[in-house]
Formats: sequence, C-alpha cells, structure tokens
Amino acid sequence: MADPRGFLKVRERQTQPRRPVPVRIMDWKEVYEAQEKGVLKSQAGRCMDCGVPFCHQGCPLGNLIPEWNDLVWRDKGEEAIERLHATNNFPEFTGRLCPAPCESSCVLGINQPAVTIKQVEVSIIDAAFDNDWVKPMQPARLTGKTVAVIGSGPAGLAAAQQLTRTGHTVAVYERDDRIGGLLRYGIPDFKMEKEHLDRRLAQMTAEGTRFRPGVEVGKDISWDQLRRRYDAVLIATGSTVPRDLSIPGRELSGVHFAMDYLVQANRVVAGDVVEGQIDARGKHVVILGGGDTGADCLGTAHRQQAASVTTLAIGKQPPAERPSHQPWPTFPTLFEVASAHEEGGERTYLASTVEFIGEDGVLKAIKVAETEFVNGRRVPKAGTEREIPADLVFLSLGFTGPEPAGVTEQIKVELDERGNIIRDGYYMTNTDGVFVAGDAGRGQSLIVWAIAEGRSAAAAVDKYLDGWTILSAPVAPTDVALNAF
Ligand SMILES: Cc1cc2nc3c(=O)[nH]c(=O)nc-3n(C[C@H](O)[C@H](O)[C@H](O)COP(=O)(O)OP(=O)(O)OC[C@H]3O[C@@H](n4cnc5c(N)ncnc54)[C@H](O)[C@@H]3O)c2cc1C
Ligand code: SF4
Repeated sequence: MADPRGFLKVRERQTQPRRPVPVRIMDWKEVYEAQEKGVLKSQAGRCMDCGVPFCHQGCPLGNLIPEWNDLVWRDKGEEAIERLHATNNFPEFTGRLCPAPCESSCVLGINQPAVTIKQVEVSIIDAAFDNDWVKPMQPARLTGKTVAVIGSGPAGLAAAQQLTRTGHTVAVYERDDRIGGLLRYGIPDFKMEKEHLDRRLAQMTAEGTRFRPGVEVGKDISWDQLRRRYDAVLIATGSTVPRDLSIPGRELSGVHFAMDYLVQANRVVAGDVVEGQIDARGKHVVILGGGDTGADCLGTAHRQQAASVTTLAIGKQPPAERPSHQPWPTFPTLFEVASAHEEGGERTYLASTVEFIGEDGVLKAIKVAETEFVNGRRVPKAGTEREIPADLVFLSLGFTGPEPAGVTEQIKVELDERGNIIRDGYYMTNTDGVFVAGDAGRGQSLIVWAIAEGRSAAAAVDKYLDGWTILSAPVAPTDVALNAF
C-alpha cells in the first residue's frame, strides 16, 4: 500500500492549483495547472488501500484506484499508467472532466477529506504522454469481421478502441466535420484543451480505427445500408435534443439553446470562422439552468467579455455539505462551485422565468418570479415578478433524448417512454446485430458512464461476432441516468 501512515501525517486535501481569474479569463487555455510532484506523491500517499475499496464501486469504470495511488507514491509512473489503462481508455478526459463519484465513496471521506483521486489520475496520464509511454496497441491478428460505430463521443471512441484492439475492422461515422462528440464541440477548451483529444485520436488511428467525419448516417448513407455492409453496428449518437421553454417571447432574437452558443464558440477557438457568431461581448447574458452546460456558457461569456452574466435555476440551492438522506458512500447532490463560478456572475435559485420581453423582435429583458411549490409542482409565485435586463439568453435546461428520426424509421429500433433507445442486458437493441451505448441509450449523463458503456458494449459486440470475448464489461445497461446536464 501507499504510505501506511500517510493519512495520519497528511490530513489536508490539497487540490490542483488554478491560474488566477484575471489571467485565465483573457484566454481559452485550461484553468488548472499541474501539481508539484512532491505534493502529488504525498496526496496519493493518503490512500489507505482499504480492504474493501468503496472507490472501485463509486467509479463506473471500476478504476483500480488504490493500486495506482500506491504506484504514484512509489514513483512508478509507467506501471501506474498500465493499471489505469487496464480499466479506462481515456483517463485524460475523466481526469479533467469527471465529477469524481469515486471521491464521494472514498473511505477516508468518512472523517477526513477524501483522497484527491481525480487529480492523481490526470497526473498519471499526463506524465505518460510526456514520457512517451502511451503507444499504439495494434491487434496481433485481424478477425475479418467489420463493425460500424455511429457517433464519435466518448462512448463510440471507447467501443471503437476496444473492438479494433481485438482485431475487428472498425469504422467510426461522425456527422460533424471533426471527431470527438461533446468532447470536441460541447466542452470548452478552458475545461479540456483539444490537444488531449487529438493525441488520443492519433493513437487510435495508428492502431487501425478508421474515422469517417462529415458523414451523417440516415442522410449521407442510410441506416439500412450500413447494417447490410457491416457485421455489427453500434449506435453511440448521444442525447442531443435540447429541452425548450415555451413561454411568451420565445421567438425573440437573442434567445438561444446553450449548445448553439457553445458549438460556435468552440469552433472559433479551433480557428474556424463562424459567420454571425453569437457573441456575448458587452452584452447582458442570462443563463437558464444551473448545471454543467450552464457553467460552460458562463465561462465562455466571461471570456468573450460579457457586461454581466446571471444564472437562474428554478429549484432550491443544493446544500454545501452532504445531507443526511445522501449518506456516505453515495454520490450526493451538492452546491457546486465550478471553475467558471469562481470567475464571476450572479447565481439565483428559486427563479421561474415567465416571459422573454423584447422590442422590435429583439430580446431586451426577461421577467422572473420566485418559485413556489404547489402540490409538489414548481410554479411562479404571483406578485413576485421582476425584470432582469438581457441581450442574450441561453437555454441550458437539459436534453430530452436522442434524435429519433433515422434510427426509428430506417432501422426500426424501439425507444422507451423517455425517447432513449431500448437495449437488452447485452446492449443489443430489438434489431439483431445493432447495439447502443452512451447517452443514446441511458439519456444525457457523464463521460465516465459513456466510456464504461462503450467498453461494455464492445464486449457484447465481440461476443456476438466471435461467440466469446476477453474484453471486460464494467457496467450492465441501466435505465437510470446518473446526472442531467
Ligand atoms: C455542454 C456540456 C458539458 C458537459 N460537461 C461534462 C463534464 O464536464 N463532465 C462529464 O462527465 N460530462 C459532461 N457532459 C456530458 C457528456 O459530455 C456526455 O454524457 C457524453 O459526451 C456522452 O457521450 P456519447 O458518446 O454518448 O455522446 P456524444 O458525446 O453526445 O457524441 C455523440 C456523437 O454522435 C454524433 N451523431 C449523432 N447522430 C449521428 C448520425 N446520424 N450520424 C453520424 N453521427 C451522429 C453527434 O454529432 C456526436 O458527435 C457535458 C455535456 C454537455 C452538453
Ligand atoms: S473516472 Fe471519475 S469516478 Fe473513476 S476514478 Fe476517475 S475521477 Fe473517479
């Protein structure tokens, strides 16, 4: 185990340093800086190597956390990345972007701050890339079987890497011009710079995965054609239909879905020119919805030098400390201060938006009222209405499911009552040889779940094609989405 007395000697949890706010909002680079090696080692050394490591259970990938904490403490970086890659294809994504449910279930967390697991994870993979320890892993032989993966988010990429390494010929179809799903055009660079994604894609290309960007399945090639051309098809198209807010004034210019704004901003950071870009410079911005998508809009608006940014959430402010009904080792809903929240802006809870107010078709303000709870329903409280100046509103109210058109009409897969694609215990839809993984099947969730489902679906596809598999399957399909963004 790591230092047997580590948790007694180092009681303080020291997280990664962040660049100063006035500096970091002047660029799009990542907010976090690498941790000094000595601090990292002493933090990894706090791990108690518990007999029953609850962190394994907390992490959807079942990451072997105590093993790599020990190896980091012993300065064995190359062995640490081998243990980390054993369960996680992309620790550079999760180490930056995961909300770390593992830390909520860390045993040390019962009476001390939890081990900084996520931070140790990202340090292992960053050191591995810096030292050239991450090599392509080409298959020893090809099986002659072919698989089409539709969608290049973390679920599709994890499945494609697993299946390519077992010797199947895998093509990833993506309708966007660049590969990566929400990692590319949803999540801003200040949370994860795109070089991390490109570096991993280079490894996958060298291993033999074929990428087909700019091809929309259902339009450029039919689902049926694809099914006939490949031995198996994996749908990993995400959950992309945004929840709308049908109130007076919705048609005004200035009211946008959050993703329309974020995709454009990400494109511009990537060097593209976006005609008529939605730009927050000098504008009063209101974000409806207090989740991660809202926080990404907030950080983006600050970097575009908005005049003001207000985030409104319809519900109650979550507690700062773990409430008694969400005891250890569960993953509690807490008041989150993401890096974007540290950079400014106002956050208001119990705010119900009742109207968008405009002049000559252009948004000028929004009318909000206090939320009150009537028979368990959230409604605007009469007499509490007030106006907030607004030039731009971003609707960040979650997603209702995958786009149904092509898959249901052309390949005839069944959807559940929430619009997600139904799969059996082996990730197969009601159509033989057609599988589903990630947000398309579970609803909008987390990157760590997308990778876990991608790995598990790959094992199911491999077994379907060959009758047996050596691939590991960390999670069974579940119809419970962990988190809504
Ligand atoms: C703004 C935002 C911020 C987020 N931040 C975080 C975070 O910090 N941490 C975290 O853990 N999670 C976060 N999430 C959630 C996380 O990004 C998703 O859960 C995850 O990306 C889902 O992966 P996926 O592979 O299932 O789908 P996606 O990443 O959505 O990828 C699906 C891909 O399929 C493509 N596609 C769809 N239909 C077709 C078609 N017919 N043909 C070809 N291609 C198609 C799409 O273009 C897309 O590229 C965030 C989500 C959003 C929206
Ligand atoms: S992937 Fe997420 S839950 Fe798993 S160890 Fe890393 S930070 Fe923790």
